[in-house]
Amino acid sequence: MADTAYISAEAVEEEAIMLDAIDKWLEQKVKPVAMQLEHDNEWPADLVEDMKEMGLFGALIDPEYGGLGLSATTYSKIVTKIAEEWMSLTGIFNSHLMMAQIVQRFGTDKQKEHWLPKFATGELRGGLALTEPNAGTDLQALTTKATRVGDKYVVEGAKTWISNAIEGHVVALLVKTDPKAEPRYKGMSILITQTKDAETREDLPGVKNGNKLSKLGYKGIDSGELIYEGYECDAELSLVGGEEGKGFFMATGGLEIGRINIAARSVGIARRALNESIAYAQTRKSMGKLICEHQAIQLKLGEMGAKTRAAELLVADAARAYDTGERIDMEAGMAKYFASETAVEVATEAMRIHGGYGYSKEYVIERLYRDAPLMCIGEGTNEMQRIIIAKQLVKRNPV
Ligand SMILES: Cc1cc2nc3c(=O)[nH]c(=O)nc-3n(C[C@H](O)[C@H](O)[C@H](O)COP(=O)(O)OP(=O)(O)OC[C@H]3O[C@@H](n4cnc5c(N)ncnc54)[C@H](O)[C@@H]3O)c2cc1C
Repeated sequence: MADTAYISAEAVEEEAIMLDAIDKWLEQKVKPVAMQLEHDNEWPADLVEDMKEMGLFGALIDPEYGGLGLSATTYSKIVTKIAEEWMSLTGIFNSHLMMAQIVQRFGTDKQKEHWLPKFATGELRGGLALTEPNAGTDLQALTTKATRVGDKYVVEGAKTWISNAIEGHVVALLVKTDPKAEPRYKGMSILITQTKDAETREDLPGVKNGNKLSKLGYKGIDSGELIYEGYECDAELSLVGGEEGKGFFMATGGLEIGRINIAARSVGIARRALNESIAYAQTRKSMGKLICEHQAIQLKLGEMGAKTRAAELLVADAARAYDTGERIDMEAGMAKYFASETAVEVATEAMRIHGGYGYSKEYVIERLYRDAPLMCIGEGTNEMQRIIIAKQLVKRNPV
């Protein structure tokens, strides 16, 4: 089945128009500045304004709330294209959309009406705040606590490694509302917490940023700490779904689209590394031959090409399953695991094919090489993905 055979002709046409607009934007606006912004680790303010105008902050939000309502299939193709040019940009709207998806899927009508229109325009942007200094993979170990006081929650605790924590204004915050609950996940909830004023960008009372974290790659986008000390928020607008104890499942549900996104970004990194290598191998000579005529290089290109294509097909498969409402933990896990490992492998091979030039900051290869490993860590490490895949294989195939 073609990867668009299950969506309407109208949606296919819309997808073509959107992808064409993205191509033009990448060529005209992103390509000329990406390299410099990345090396300067500068937040891309002008490109964020363009992304707002193109509706990317509302890509997965229902049109009823002002979003584009795109399918995961179309969305993942957009993400791959943008990641081919500069992967960091995709994190600015994807982390935001994971937060938006949590409100859209699990929020009350009042919460959807309050938050989603502002998320769709990008007036309020943000991300998903799960990780803490002592709770990453083991999310149930987190200690950030929200206590109900009248019609408000009071929050105490700290989050780290949060994408968009500094440049954004809101996060979907995973907290303990009942720290004594057993099993631990039953005491967890998600609060939508506004951290900064949308216009002045000043911290709201009771919350501030800690350090801006320094990273190997994924430059341009901010990764930061958030510190909550006596922060107060309105319970009705903040507690997603209006019921305590559901946060762990909402967070892991939100990660499904996040994993498709990471897989799609990985395909973008791999595809760029492959295309750069195919081109370079046809211009660089050694021993009187173009290097693409050496069998050692051909073996590399052949493997890089096959794996990149396989990763692309796994992403399409997971996105199709998401769009048709099937369960996707295994499909998203397979796509995320395989595509991210492929990105690391293909970027490394691309560096070898480019020889010393692959190591130079004047070429894009060293950036792809620095960006790729994050894909193995984010939205659930690849160790965990393989465990999730294995559990699903057993569960779906009982003897
Ligand atoms: C650039 C960047 C951006 C990020 N953005 C965000 C964000 O926006 N929001 C957010 O909440 N977090 C974010 N994170 C955090 C990220 O999700 C975590 O780093 C990740 O979940 C791993 O957690 P950890 O770093 O605490 O590693 P740990 O959980 O300490 O894991 C260490 C190692 O042990 C392995 N391991 C742990 N438990 C098990 C197990 N049960 N079985 C097998 N192996 C196991 C892991 O796979 C890993 O190899 C970001 C991280 C980075 C680097």
